[in-house]
Amino acid sequence: MERRQFLRQAGATLAVASTAGLAGCAAQPPRTATATQGLSLAPIRASTDRITGVYVCTRPFRAEGPRIETQKLGNKTIVHNYGHGGSGWSLSWGSGTLALQMVQASGAKDLGVIGCGAIGLTTALLAQRAGLQTRIYAKALPPDVFSMRASGLWTPDSRICDAAHAPALADRWEMMTRISYARYQSLLGLPGQPIEWIDGYSLSDMPFGKFHGDVPDEPEYGDFASRVRDLTPRPVELSPGNHPFPEPHVRRYTTLMFNISSYANYLMNEYQAAGGKIDIREFEHVEQLQQLPEHTLVNATGYGSRALFGDESVIPVRGQTARLIPQPEVTYGLRLDNLSVVPRSDGIMVQVTGDPGNFNNADVTPHREVSEAAVRELADVMARMKRDATHGSS
Ligand SMILES: Cc1cc2nc3c(=O)[nH]c(=O)nc-3n(C[C@H](O)[C@H](O)[C@H](O)COP(=O)(O)OP(=O)(O)OC[C@H]3O[C@@H](n4cnc5c(N)ncnc54)[C@H](O)[C@@H]3O)c2cc1C
Repeated sequence: MERRQFLRQAGATLAVASTAGLAGCAAQPPRTATATQGLSLAPIRASTDRITGVYVCTRPFRAEGPRIETQKLGNKTIVHNYGHGGSGWSLSWGSGTLALQMVQASGAKDLGVIGCGAIGLTTALLAQRAGLQTRIYAKALPPDVFSMRASGLWTPDSRICDAAHAPALADRWEMMTRISYARYQSLLGLPGQPIEWIDGYSLSDMPFGKFHGDVPDEPEYGDFASRVRDLTPRPVELSPGNHPFPEPHVRRYTTLMFNISSYANYLMNEYQAAGGKIDIREFEHVEQLQQLPEHTLVNATGYGSRALFGDESVIPVRGQTARLIPQPEVTYGLRLDNLSVVPRSDGIMVQVTGDPGNFNNADVTPHREVSEAAVRELADVMARMKRDATHGSS
């Protein structure tokens, strides 16, 4: 998740106390749960030997925002759907809906979708549900696609465009965001919990609003949060005594979380159960697309569009996450000035945020020592949390 986005989101979401989740914790509190005036939080077992993996991917950022448009190429109609920066999962349904409208305008009955990440898979599913015979062509499938390495939060305007292009993108962005948000509400409560609402806590030494969290070597990004303030709950500032954290400024936020392993599995199953076809295939040149049987193709190759379509406006923005062994009893997220924690079912995601050197950096070599330092910082936060006397102390 993006540092700036997170802070903005924390400022834009109303934290309806997660009574269901917290009541669940209260019913069976872990031995060392932290509790202050009814707020019971299971401790995260943050130690470097519990890291199950360190993952790096690049956000496909375009200054003007995602490319969703039709291009005639030889005897094919290509509908582009790529360049979603740090918002691909969040915008996937809305973006796929726009792309599908363009596909339908071409009169297509059969569709080829190039790419099987968040964007390709979702677009293929939408097309299939609209009655098109759909085949995905991709060099890799989940879990071996960049999308699987995302943080897993609702971040629809994270690195989605730069500030200069924001006015031109705003209306389309809002449409995509609202469509996606509505779709995600229909995916709550499914087996495996692909999508959940969670509470989290932003911790800061400074009052909220004073700290902007911009990354020094990255552009100023478009900020659309005010356009959809009605969608998500708003944050609540907690006074000392109402939370277990030592920081002077604490906010509770409420956000949608994507359990990415479970969610990608859901999407793949839905697509294949309805007869969707998949061909594993890498395209080295656009000319190879001319050999495909379908006349209309969606290009959902993400960062791959830079090489395949020669689009140098796609800039890689590197991001690294680590996962700790899952702890089902940990149901809350955390946000510090330089650290984000997401309590996913496939592992507790720990991410350094706001670090420089990621913009226009396509190097996907993991730097484990960076993630280990983040986990140690998280361990320090856990050690400083007040312990509930009734549950024992650590
Ligand atoms: C660290 C990090 C955290 C993030 N967190 C979030 C988050 O919390 N919420 C959110 O909404 N977004 C988040 N994102 C952004 C999100 O991950 C991306 O926007 C999204 O993954 C883009 O999906 P995609 O389908 O376009 O690309 P990809 O997942 O890269 O999929 C591309 C597909 O195209 C295929 N392909 C590529 N080139 C070719 C070729 N030449 N021939 C054949 N097939 C090809 C690939 O094999 C793959 O199947 C994050 C990103 C990063 C890096």
